[in-house]
Amino acid sequence: MAVMAEVSTTTGAALRSPASPAPAPVKEGDADKLRFIEEMTSDVDAVQERVLAEILARNADTEYLTNCGLAGATDRATFRAKVPMATYEDLQPYIRRIADGDRSPILSGHPVSEFLTSSGTSAGERKLMPTIEDELNRRQLLYSLQMPVMNLYVPGMDKGKALHFLFVKSETRTPGGLAARPVLTSYYKSNHFKNRPFDAYNNYTSPTAAILCADAFQSMYAQMVCGLVQRHDVLRVGAVFASGLLRAIRFLQLNWEQLAADVETGALTPRVTDPSVREAVAGILRPDPELAAVIRAECSSGDWAGIITRIWPSTKYLDVIVTGAMAQYIPTLKYYSGGLPMACTMYASSECYFGLNLRPMCDPSEVSYTLMPNMCYFEFLPMDAAASGGDASQLVDLARVELGREYELVISTYAGLNRYRVGDVLQVTGFHNSAPQFRFVRRKNVLLSIESDKTDEAELQRAVERASALLRPHGATVVEYTSQAYTKSIPGHYVIYWELLLAKISASADGEAVDRETLDQCCLQMEEALNSVYRQSRVADGSIGPLEIRVVRPGTFEELMDYAISRGASINQYKVPRCVTFPPIIELLDSRVVSSHFSPALPHWTPGQRNDD
Ligand code: AMP
Repeated sequence: MAVMAEVSTTTGAALRSPASPAPAPVKEGDADKLRFIEEMTSDVDAVQERVLAEILARNADTEYLTNCGLAGATDRATFRAKVPMATYEDLQPYIRRIADGDRSPILSGHPVSEFLTSSGTSAGERKLMPTIEDELNRRQLLYSLQMPVMNLYVPGMDKGKALHFLFVKSETRTPGGLAARPVLTSYYKSNHFKNRPFDAYNNYTSPTAAILCADAFQSMYAQMVCGLVQRHDVLRVGAVFASGLLRAIRFLQLNWEQLAADVETGALTPRVTDPSVREAVAGILRPDPELAAVIRAECSSGDWAGIITRIWPSTKYLDVIVTGAMAQYIPTLKYYSGGLPMACTMYASSECYFGLNLRPMCDPSEVSYTLMPNMCYFEFLPMDAAASGGDASQLVDLARVELGREYELVISTYAGLNRYRVGDVLQVTGFHNSAPQFRFVRRKNVLLSIESDKTDEAELQRAVERASALLRPHGATVVEYTSQAYTKSIPGHYVIYWELLLAKISASADGEAVDRETLDQCCLQMEEALNSVYRQSRVADGSIGPLEIRVVRPGTFEELMDYAISRGASINQYKVPRCVTFPPIIELLDSRVVSSHFSPALPHWTPGQRNDD
């Protein structure tokens, strides 16, 4: 025992940065986890070599690797020589066959247990990522490393609870009968989560039944009311992504009166109908007029600044990802939390869970993730090579990336993705032992994102084309357009700026020749043309608001070009940006708006995957 304590304290010291405040003593239960991180990061190349050999051995007889001509080889040199880099579209024929029920070892030597539906899309539909049973253990292992790291920085997290808004989404079955659902839905519905042993560091205020309720309103309501009742126990407030936490705050803004009434009487609103949720909440909700008065006092003033710490006064930090596309929400979260630290603890995807932030209390701008070399085989395509297409010979191993350089992430997984391009761009910021640490720079090709939706330039172009067809009978065309992810309101929404050319002589200079109704319909047509993740967020989750078209005065885009040129852009190379984020440009556009229009209805969306392509 004494030896363990000694080892663990040293391990904790290794993980803590030199600038960290007073060291917290390492808990006995954490020592193994911290030592595991140290072991995994001390010789990443050796771990990666072993992981690759394991992956290739278990998948040796798959059709994919056989077609590559690997002939059972498990060494790096043969792998590098024979296996090409692949995109989702390259793998789609194989994936389609698995989805249709072919149980032969196509990509994975282990049976595919289900498909994880990525928020990345291909031809407008969620990508289907095959997964296998034991992948859950690897995910679980990564989750189990989070709190031991956090405990090095924030003591006492076992003395209370986490108000973590967790949700499941709808799931479908492929024609071959495999479940297709998001990775977190799969995790929350797994026995790993449902039957987890009590853990004082991951003690949620939300009953599992509320998390597992597929109805977004009922689930959120139940989680919120339970969070309110246990307000003094709450030590951290979170959601997976920043947008999810902001939705919860918006929910409180819209529903605090009913929530307070429920707390006052101890009776849950009849709007929550799910019997298992009602039963779970009944075990927690008690009449508490005093608490109801606090909720009313805090929520009725109309002042929402610092609401999180006013309602949950013991909150030490927000547990929420604010890196990547979520960075746009940092100012809003600061406002609602009164500037609480935001901990981005993990970097993960449907394809594979990747790594951890070993300094979880650092500023969001400094977050780096340490890729854990046991999760999969990592390779990196230098961004200069990626820009010109890139080929497998340019891939660099995890142990050979260079400080400061940007790379596209390429992975080979136990579940049978080989040299798969994830589409994330990462920059090397430092090392923990021999393990490189990466800043998440961006997702390739994403122009607009409010929540987990990812809209690229081609999708936006198609949507504009489809919508502008409605203008033709009016003799109008869209001459230029750009866009903005508008996140000042919750939920956020897409704003598309249109400059119209009006052929008819009768048209007034400000674009009024097209009636309001047509332009409203254009908004809806654009939404109909956007990918299924966007439409699901609009329809099922309500996490994206109606799309808005702002018609700007003729000549506005010329002004935009003049502005860019005045700031040094080359007149020959100038291209209209299809998305704008720079505040002066947005101000310029907004000052030229002649009319704005919102989508009058929800676009179509059904849970199933489209099978006609
Ligand atoms: P999905 O395939 O829907 O599970 O989404 C996975 C993607 O979400 C990743 O490939 C990243 O682009 C993004 N993502 C996941 N974790 C983070 C993070 N911690 N910071 C920034 N982006 C993230």
